[in-house]
Amino acid sequence: MTSPELKLKQLPSWQQELGQLMTDPAELVHHLKLGRQWLAPAIAAAKLFPLRATRSYVQRIAPGRPDDPLLRQILPLQAELKTDKGYSADPLGEQRANPVPGLIHKYHGRVLLVAAPQCAINCRYCFRRHFDYKSNTPSRQQWQQAIDYIRQHPSIDEVILSGGDPLVLADKPLAWLVEQLASIQHVQRLRIHSRLPIVLPQRLTAQLLSLLQHNRMHCVVVVHCNHPKEINDEVASALLSLKHHGLTTLNQSVLLKGVNDCSSTLVDLSKRLFELGVLPYYLHALDKIVGAAHFEVAEPEIKNLYRSLLRELPGYLVPKLVREVQGAQSKVAISCD
Ligand SMILES: *Cc1c(COP(=O)(O)O)cnc(C)c1O
Ligand code: SF4
Repeated sequence: MTSPELKLKQLPSWQQELGQLMTDPAELVHHLKLGRQWLAPAIAAAKLFPLRATRSYVQRIAPGRPDDPLLRQILPLQAELKTDKGYSADPLGEQRANPVPGLIHKYHGRVLLVAAPQCAINCRYCFRRHFDYKSNTPSRQQWQQAIDYIRQHPSIDEVILSGGDPLVLADKPLAWLVEQLASIQHVQRLRIHSRLPIVLPQRLTAQLLSLLQHNRMHCVVVVHCNHPKEINDEVASALLSLKHHGLTTLNQSVLLKGVNDCSSTLVDLSKRLFELGVLPYYLHALDKIVGAAHFEVAEPEIKNLYRSLLRELPGYLVPKLVREVQGAQSKVAISCD
């Protein structure tokens, strides 16, 4: 048996793959043998929020299946062009909690740093699909402003690198950022929110793992996996490598109609992730972002699903069911009593 680390080293460079993302709706429709009727809507919807997916992710999708749960997360649809009541471009009120460019300070003790302006995949339900990345694109100078802000606020003991996806940054700028944060005494924990371990597992190079393992702060990695089918052998190795480097690894999912709104899918997901050293963290109800209404699961159904998870899983494998409420001081638990 080859070790997970060895397997990772044999893969092509993650940066090469990042340079070869699938971005052309025609290629996706053709490659996955979807009917031609999917093409025009995909082109129209991709104009509002581009198609973006790693080839590794596309390979996990069954051809000829428009309802494939992985495909639904990346294929631009006609439904995205609708404006639904109650859906907005900034449902979380992030624009108001943006004290310096690239920094979101909404909750006590932790700040979120928009470390990179994009992701390796554009998830169609993304709550930042309308985020103003242009004025929040980090340059060294903007990072410096964010770092100064953190330095001046001793109550901040945790910094969350988010995005976009912080792991699309190359190792060098990432190492610089980690070093800067580590130099601030009151920052105890570094949290990385990334979908790359799932959609581009090659990203977890030995060098990156070492950077996360060997610094003064406790490092927590929160991956974002919505469906057990997302976990192929490379993803499994990548997740195990996080565990082998002593990193606490958690998962958050978004509850999505037609993707994972089924208790057996969510039960399998928790169990599979646990085998790979990952504990569940959050199960998010969808944020009401314009263009994503077709992913919404009705509240009574959410509660039924969650009650099944509580019945079928040990407590530590049940994610916390939450939603974002504008102005709240934390994510808000959805009560299922
Ligand atoms: C979700 C979130 C956090 C982290 O919240 P936790 O409950 O600690 O995971 C921090 N800042 C912002 C802006 C967030 O959206
Ligand atoms: S990886 Fe996260 S931030 Fe990036 S598009 Fe997907 S949901 Fe949005």
